[in-house]
Amino acid sequence: MPRLPPRTAAPCHNPRVLLTITLTKPPATDLGYLLHKSPDRVHSRELAFGQAHVFYPEATAERCTAALLLDIDPVGLARGRHQGSSLEPYVNDRPYVASSFMSVAIGQVFGSAMGGRSTGRPELVDELLPFEVCLPALPSRGGENLIRRLFEPLGYAVTTEAHPLAESFADWGNSPYYSVTLTANVKLSDLLSHLYVLIPVLDEKKHYWVTEDEIAKLLRHGEGWLPAHPDREFIANRYLARQGSLTREALRQLTADEEPDPDEVEAERDAEEAAVEKPMRLSDERVGAVMAALRASGAARVLDLGCGEGRLISEMVTDRTFTEIVGMDVSARSLEIAARRLHADRMNERQRARLKLIQGSLTYRDARLAGYDAAVLMEVIEHLEPGRLPALERVVFEFAKPATVVVTTPNAEFNVRFESLPEGRFRHRDHRFEWTRDEFAAWSDGVAAKFGYEVRRLPIGPLDPVVGSATQMAVFER
Ligand code: SAH
Repeated sequence: MPRLPPRTAAPCHNPRVLLTITLTKPPATDLGYLLHKSPDRVHSRELAFGQAHVFYPEATAERCTAALLLDIDPVGLARGRHQGSSLEPYVNDRPYVASSFMSVAIGQVFGSAMGGRSTGRPELVDELLPFEVCLPALPSRGGENLIRRLFEPLGYAVTTEAHPLAESFADWGNSPYYSVTLTANVKLSDLLSHLYVLIPVLDEKKHYWVTEDEIAKLLRHGEGWLPAHPDREFIANRYLARQGSLTREALRQLTADEEPDPDEVEAERDAEEAAVEKPMRLSDERVGAVMAALRASGAARVLDLGCGEGRLISEMVTDRTFTEIVGMDVSARSLEIAARRLHADRMNERQRARLKLIQGSLTYRDARLAGYDAAVLMEVIEHLEPGRLPALERVVFEFAKPATVVVTTPNAEFNVRFESLPEGRFRHRDHRFEWTRDEFAAWSDGVAAKFGYEVRRLPIGPLDPVVGSATQMAVFER
């Protein structure tokens, strides 16, 4: 059975005070501006699993300390998605230790600070400041050493104090809980990101089901420090709750994108591709051809997989025959742009019920994609490593299994007709491949045969007698 930590934790006595952050340089009360929480009152906030409170046990010019306290509702937890034996949710350590709840609370209560924003003291956001962090009940399934291994490479001086399992029974040994103090000169946003990622890594018990969204979170909050951490693989593995495929994907992205912001790079490359193809308004022709194929199929509920910035969706929403439209993409940034472009914020309830934008990866089986009439992959497959294509095929044709699937992709043979495209280059630097007509035919025939679809192929854009059309489309029907 899980055990409660003893209540003798030295630096902070209230067992529910799970984290204090102290700025130790005058004027220390600037901490209030950095955290967007004024030191002169208590700040409380409802979270999905209880309440978070922030208050300042000390606020002088020399030292200013913010304390985060969580009131976790164990009964609410029991009713929620928590899994385990029927009693376990009622009798567990969650309300008393720094756990993944704490990460969620940090993200929600200190979100602006973690994002490096301060309205009152913007000049301090990028400054390395002397902080002292105290975690009176940090579970470490991996002992004291693991705490050091994780925090010391990030520049923290670490002191830990182990707690015996039960004070009167010394021979029972130590509990997995430690009082930990971390000191360093760091940016506050980095400090919060370190805690956000590493606390659940130490605790190893996530209270919510780990999904692919977690990869995005890990990459976002690990930005700037995780790729260089000597234990990055271990961290990714534990953070993603030992789900091998997620960990591999995260590591692939971690190591592949040592560039600053993959989304920004993607945006730049989109612009380059648009410039190459623009003279023939190919993008409009593509949308027109896909719309025609969808209308011909009679589909009403449609998935736009790899919807990007919503070029196709903005066309679909104007046609009432589409009663439900779901756009999915891995890129959160593209989805934000799509939402803006579609004015998702101004939609009424009915419109909102008709259009959904969801984040997800096409290489993982996803129950949200089942039961639709048609799916579109417009200029998407060439963005995947060829080795990942079989995973996508199964996700789309075996699990989501709509009656109609429309796929478009560049025709590599046509590239010689683009004047601005240097020979041998792809249209978009993010393309992992561009296929000839024969290659696309071989792939689409293979997929159709394997998953029980009929396929026909159609040209899109100007048709050249020698090299074919600029874009190629395959329409699969079951
Ligand atoms: N269909 C859109 C966007 C094409 S660009 C249009 O034609 O305008 C390719 C898109 O595929 C990008 O938005 C990229 O983020 C997305 N993508 C790449 N790999 C993906 C994956 N594994 N899962 C979901 N989307 C992916």
